[in-house]
Amino acid sequence: SPVMKTQPSVVTRFAPSPTGLLHLGHAYAAILAHDWARERGGRFILRIEDIDTIRCRAEFEEKIYDDLAWLGLEWDEPVRRQSEHVALYRSKLDALSDQGLLYPCFCTRQEIAHEIARMPSAPHGPEGPIYPGTCLALSPDERASRIDQGLSHAWRLNVAAALNATDMSSDILFTETGHGPKGEQGKIRVDPYLFGDVVLGRKDLGVSYHLAVTVDDHVQGVTHVTRGEDLFHATHVQRLLQELLGLDEPAYHHHGLIMHDSGRRLAKRDRDQTIEALRTAGASPNDIRDKLDLTNRAGR
Ligand code: GLU
Repeated sequence: SPVMKTQPSVVTRFAPSPTGLLHLGHAYAAILAHDWARERGGRFILRIEDIDTIRCRAEFEEKIYDDLAWLGLEWDEPVRRQSEHVALYRSKLDALSDQGLLYPCFCTRQEIAHEIARMPSAPHGPEGPIYPGTCLALSPDERASRIDQGLSHAWRLNVAAALNATDMSSDILFTETGHGPKGEQGKIRVDPYLFGDVVLGRKDLGVSYHLAVTVDDHVQGVTHVTRGEDLFHATHVQRLLQELLGLDEPAYHHHGLIMHDSGRRLAKRDRDQTIEALRTAGASPNDIRDKLDLTNRAGR
């Protein structure tokens, strides 16, 4: 008898941080992810990225539920809140540490800036200078003694060690079904050094965005990461982490950003472009879809 092949169900997510009101750009990302899943009989997940307990606020989280419901979106319950899973992220950090792939970094922002200014040609990533590797040079004794002294430190990924330790002989790739900021699409080759030795354990929070996102996309079975092209480069880091931690690899669909009339990208300060403001001004959910050109072509 023929073997029935079940198509793995599509799972998309919208993953806002409750640090302000949602604006039109968020509406676009949320509707795209939602419609993408619905058109394919899949599931749409809402994830609250609230590990930054200083900047995140309960009232903004409430507004997220409210705005999305008003837009007519439905998501799976229960909603995953990252602040409730920090122990899991820490365990993944420990796993990388046990493999010898992390090192403590005691540098302050200012020290890093000074170090970069002194270098004749400081290494640069897509968003500016990257960590020049200062603390990589510390001896094991020096590290231990600084930690014993109680000096605060972040944990950085030792990218060179990571590439050595694992079978990275073949290139790591990711699949881009949307496009990056320069129109990148198709199979994208990961540049593991793009952001240098990134922080995975933050001084203040214990874990970093990259780690939490990568772990959660795996745990929640996300098959398609749809998000703004501002996070296209972050995918290089996240794919590397998936390889190092043995996590599933979703496909990526980055989309263009919704711009302010003046041509720059929308920001939290654009109060008139929040969903709440548009709603108060009398817009309907369909007006928002029309405005975003999402009425008949979501997921394209
Ligand atoms: N929480 C991130 C943000 O609000 C998005 C993370 C992601 O989509 O990977 O910018």
